[in-house]
Amino acid sequence: MAGRVGRLFLLGMLLWLAGTKGQSAEPLVTTTRDPVEQERCLDRLNQVFEALRKFRSEQHRLPDALSELVPDYIQDRRTLICPFVDKSADLRTWMAGLYKDVIADEVSSYAYEFCLVRLPREWWRGVARTYRDYKEDQRGVIGDKVPLIRCMAHEPRINVSFGGDWYPSDTEWETRFEGAHPDLSPAGLQARKVSHSFPAAQDFPGRNPAADSTMLDLTSSYNGLLQSDWQGYPGNNLKSLPPAVHELDGVKFDVRGVVQLAGRKLPITFPARTAPISVGRRCKRIHVLQGTAFTPGDVMEIARYKLQYADGSVEQLAVTYGVHVADWWLNPENSNVPSKARVVWTGLNDAAKSWGESLRLFLTTYDNPHPDREILSVTFESAMKRSSPFMLAITVER
Ligand SMILES: [Zn+2]
Repeated sequence: MAGRVGRLFLLGMLLWLAGTKGQSAEPLVTTTRDPVEQERCLDRLNQVFEALRKFRSEQHRLPDALSELVPDYIQDRRTLICPFVDKSADLRTWMAGLYKDVIADEVSSYAYEFCLVRLPREWWRGVARTYRDYKEDQRGVIGDKVPLIRCMAHEPRINVSFGGDWYPSDTEWETRFEGAHPDLSPAGLQARKVSHSFPAAQDFPGRNPAADSTMLDLTSSYNGLLQSDWQGYPGNNLKSLPPAVHELDGVKFDVRGVVQLAGRKLPITFPARTAPISVGRRCKRIHVLQGTAFTPGDVMEIARYKLQYADGSVEQLAVTYGVHVADWWLNPENSNVPSKARVVWTGLNDAAKSWGESLRLFLTTYDNPHPDREILSVTFESAMKRSSPFMLAITVER
């Protein structure tokens, strides 16, 4: 199930499986466009909203799940099931077609987004937060228009807002508000909270005298400190990797900072490429210490190293997800190592720990296609996919 849910998120399928091709062998549930069914459902949603309102005024909090309304605030538990779902499918079938965490309990067909289920790791890479935390952040931006309960059995979907109004929307209701509030995603909301100024060159530790010229000096390309939450997610850092010359699987690296490139899911906007990093020598091989945040959804090129030779020629070394690099967060259920990389460092931080995950960095070795030519410089460039590549050190081998 976890793998399937992961793929769903990658596809941007927030809640809904029905209607997608070849996704699942599970029975698909249908949706309705019938305005009569919409009216019936709205009647029921209003009853649920009233029960929620009463619960909130008496308990001074929201319920953790809709089932908490039964029996004190809702006597008949069928009130928690859309009338169309009730007659077209049994609840179990219906649940099988949905991403059930959002609903969070097994007695309701309605989506309750203020539940205490954790946000998926593909949405959030800080210390774990719940859907409710996320929804409260959305309320901070658009107020009580945030849906409190939703019915996904209709086209369009039905939303009853925190303020008690109803409105139709796509599966992703946020698109309705996109004009005025461009990004209500977890990363977009976090972007409003974090500083967008990058550390200066002097904020990084000075170059270690043990670092010789084969270990490229990345000082002017660093944009993240090892000990800071450089990607913009709280608790997500490389504090457990001390700045030093590290010998990793036989290769020495000058490790003092992070070169992070842009990606769509990071709260901070990073550059798409570095300035050319000076090499000034011939070499047989190029060793890179790297990682990436989030999965792109498939095996694909997520970045490249562009080699500029002294004779004017240019070569590109691909950074392909699944081949040269993989997500630096190690999910114990999916510990695949990319085919042409070695895991040379593992560690922890508070964010990964809160998810039961750990960290890893990859050593990738590239053969220089022209070992007889002097390389002037190397440029690290993002392919602007969903995965956000970063690199810590480059060492060339004579
Ligand atoms: Zn409904």
